[in-house]
Amino acid sequence: MKLFKEISSLRNFLNEKRLNGITKIGFVPTMGALHEGHISLINASKIQNQLTVCSIFVNPTQFNNTDDLAKYPKPIEDDINLLIENGCDVLFFPEVSEMYLNDEVKKSVDYGNITNYFEGKFRKGHFDGVVMIVKKFFQIIEPDNTYFGQKDYQQCMVVEKLIQENNLNIQLHVCPTLRENDGLAKSSRNVRLTAEEREIATIIPNTLYYIKDALQKKPLKEILINARQQITAGSNLMKLEYLEIIDAKSLNPLSEINETTHAVALIAAWCGNIRLIDNLILTE
Ligand code: AMP
Repeated sequence: MKLFKEISSLRNFLNEKRLNGITKIGFVPTMGALHEGHISLINASKIQNQLTVCSIFVNPTQFNNTDDLAKYPKPIEDDINLLIENGCDVLFFPEVSEMYLNDEVKKSVDYGNITNYFEGKFRKGHFDGVVMIVKKFFQIIEPDNTYFGQKDYQQCMVVEKLIQENNLNIQLHVCPTLRENDGLAKSSRNVRLTAEEREIATIIPNTLYYIKDALQKKPLKEILINARQQITAGSNLMKLEYLEIIDAKSLNPLSEINETTHAVALIAAWCGNIRLIDNLILTE
């Protein structure tokens, strides 16, 4: 695997590869502390491309919580080994100073519902930072395909808009959420949960599964009331930020579901000091 910390050397390398006949480049952006979820994106890219580039960059502009940024795990040696084991071709892991100018200001992004609600509302400025960094990566790498996880449902919609808005010739692939055996979505933040919190956190996927199961049996309103109660009922370590059943495209909360509805359940909850998000497609 080739490692790059500088934009110019990565660009030179990719240009040379293109001159030598590489026509498909896949790109997987990450913040590191890699797990099987990330590797599933690498694998998806390897199938569809001749060259796979992974980036590891803990992007400061997308954090609205300084403690979360400071405590974000950074096991770079383990990450590099995992990427090598899984056949990633290129790792780009720049310093913050390589990606941002000293005086660079964060531009506010407004993609309507996509950026205004849920993650956009509870993590003010988060998507501004996501758009800023993903756009830079796209401009540097110019991938043909890019791979994002459905786990970050709204992020996928933001990236789709970013591609459309800038007329980029990049195909976005949304990959399924990989879960632990007990259903908890794999996440770099899971390692920061205590043993007790880790056990309690399974209430998140269990509640999503409850919602899907109850859809045919109860009115939506009642399901939501039960589901919201369920999250916090078992432990005072759990705090619910939002739990909503929404239209998959508009993100508008739904009051009923019929045969044509594409519904998704979105959740964000705190388990102790760790904020976890998850979602489940209810009807396709
Ligand atoms: P992150 O390092 O958390 O920024 O995630 C990098 C990419 O991996 C994003 O596109 C995430 O949606 C994706 N990802 C994170 N967790 C999972 C998971 N459990 N399954 C699949 N993809 C994931």
